[in-house]
Amino acid sequence: MVLTACGFAGATTPTSVASSSSTSSSSSTTSTSSTTSTTTTTIVVHRAPPLTGVVVGLDPGHNGGNWRDPAFIDHRVWNGREFEACDTTGTATDAGYPEAQFTWNVAVDARNVLQHLGARVVLTRHSNGGVGPCITTRAEVLDRAHVDVAFDVHGDGGPPGGRGFAILVPVRDAWNHRVVGSSLRLAHELRTVFHQATGMPWSTYDGVDAIQPRDDLAGLNLTTVPKVLIECGNMRNATDARLLTSGSFQREAARAIVLAVFAFEGRRPTI
Ligand SMILES: [Zn+2]
Repeated sequence: MVLTACGFAGATTPTSVASSSSTSSSSSTTSTSSTTSTTTTTIVVHRAPPLTGVVVGLDPGHNGGNWRDPAFIDHRVWNGREFEACDTTGTATDAGYPEAQFTWNVAVDARNVLQHLGARVVLTRHSNGGVGPCITTRAEVLDRAHVDVAFDVHGDGGPPGGRGFAILVPVRDAWNHRVVGSSLRLAHELRTVFHQATGMPWSTYDGVDAIQPRDDLAGLNLTTVPKVLIECGNMRNATDARLLTSGSFQREAARAIVLAVFAFEGRRPTI
């Protein structure tokens, strides 16, 4: 007997399938008959998790220890078009909740779900207590890993009266020219699922319909993989800040990233 199965049902554990066959009619398949035989075959079917084979890059913006080493963080790096600082400390809410903590929480939540679903995840930093790496190194890490799709995760420090999320996309240059179109497609997928999952509105101050091309960011200038940078909300706005600092919003933001991976890869979501 040959039984094949492949499915995207989300099962991560083997499924046992027992089947019986007989050399005689179906009415005489019990072992009490001396003239018939019964064979039981157990076939283990491994259902592939739904994101098997997909490699996802997650770049949680800034780092919780960046303030400790201004000389390193301020040194100049080439972002593909101009020199800029290696990184910044990131912004914070008026109450002092740091952007680096927000981006780390979202990235870890997204990583955990993506790995559970079979994806391989490449992170650009591995704790929220360190310094760096520079924005150029973050881009290199994801480029060298040849990830299929990548997200730079940030929270914005916008005008206090402005609300909402914006997705920044690359502008064609010598490095990113092969992925400008696919990155824009990713932006559209992410815009839909991010709003649905989190309820965060489109930015009232950044981009057109929440999408903004940018040619001044290393992460977008130097990328050779489809990538967007999402400003998940405005940390300086009181309403957005309440959302951005809540665990439930952070988990929904992570789920939106996972849903965007499904959409970008053309796979049916199972979450
Ligand atoms: Zn940022």
